[in-house]
Amino acid sequence: MTDLPPPALRLRIDSSAIAANWNVLDRLSGPARAGAAVKADCYSLGVDSCIPALREAGCRDYFVAHWSEVPAVLRHVPADQLAVLHGPVTAGDAAYARAAGVRPIINNPQQARLWLESGGGACDLMVDTGINRLGVTPDQLSDPAIQALDVHLLLSHLASADEDCAQNAQQLADFRSVMALVKHRRASLANSAGIGLGSEYGFDLTRPGIALYGGIPRQELAQAIRQVAYPQAALIQVRDLPAGASVGYNATFTATEPMRIGVVSLGYADGVLRCWAGGHFVHGETSLPILGKVSMDMIVISLDAAPILREGDWVELPYSLPEAARQTGLSQYELLTVLGHRFER
Ligand SMILES: *Cc1c(COP(=O)(O)O)cnc(C)c1O
Repeated sequence: MTDLPPPALRLRIDSSAIAANWNVLDRLSGPARAGAAVKADCYSLGVDSCIPALREAGCRDYFVAHWSEVPAVLRHVPADQLAVLHGPVTAGDAAYARAAGVRPIINNPQQARLWLESGGGACDLMVDTGINRLGVTPDQLSDPAIQALDVHLLLSHLASADEDCAQNAQQLADFRSVMALVKHRRASLANSAGIGLGSEYGFDLTRPGIALYGGIPRQELAQAIRQVAYPQAALIQVRDLPAGASVGYNATFTATEPMRIGVVSLGYADGVLRCWAGGHFVHGETSLPILGKVSMDMIVISLDAAPILREGDWVELPYSLPEAARQTGLSQYELLTVLGHRFER
């Protein structure tokens, strides 16, 4: 059989930018080391593209959300460097953690009992200091099952670190007081935005995610962080449009004069949602406006500014995350995790 031809859409990953981002976040963490949140397939950029760069840069602490995410990460890092945020919800989860040698993050007394009943051993402990999502509440810390744990990393998660608000200092103070109540080897509070709040938020380990992948959750990080992901797609058709003709579903764009247009092989099934309408692609420095609605597998652009472009030529969606977030109304997190499986990574 002949080989499958390469897809007409690709996500270019700048792995030197990932390494540079990890290094800068590690430095900004002060005396703390930086780890890496690699959940959701490294925010959709691909563990196989991202984790080797993080590992070579020196990262030794990785976090995923689901047990299903463990095997892909273990292809790249030793099991004792990986922790699972959702913790053991079932006895099967606990058994899997033991067999894989991965640390569960215990989030409540029930999970603590499951872990101890499965045989126990080193684990991490999430304490809720105000996000009210996962984590033991401070008053549950005296529970015998919690006290019986062998806690490697004690952690909590900031709810509003991307804003200047009183909740940050409150969570910092509350985390300091719970640290005295549980024996632990290391402590960790800050995500990417928390690193921007200052090194007093660093403790022993920080857990950046979005900023590794080019997100800028706080202005303090703006100069330091580089773009990592570049969505690119080929033109699969080029055509001339007469004046008065409309483009796409519901004919939301009508040409007022003859134009040259191109069909890009990228659509909302790939994560380029309809909120991109009104945006543009680029070819080098040239801006190519999106015309009409985004379809599932196609976007139509104006080629008037680059009439030399032909079928098979590639164009790029500008994906600087802060700018793309302003343009679309999506969060920087959504802009990454929405990117689909059809991209060659
Ligand atoms: C996702 C996650 C992180 C990373 O957060 P970013 O805002 O992407 O830096 C850190 N800690 C926990 C508990 C998380 O769930």
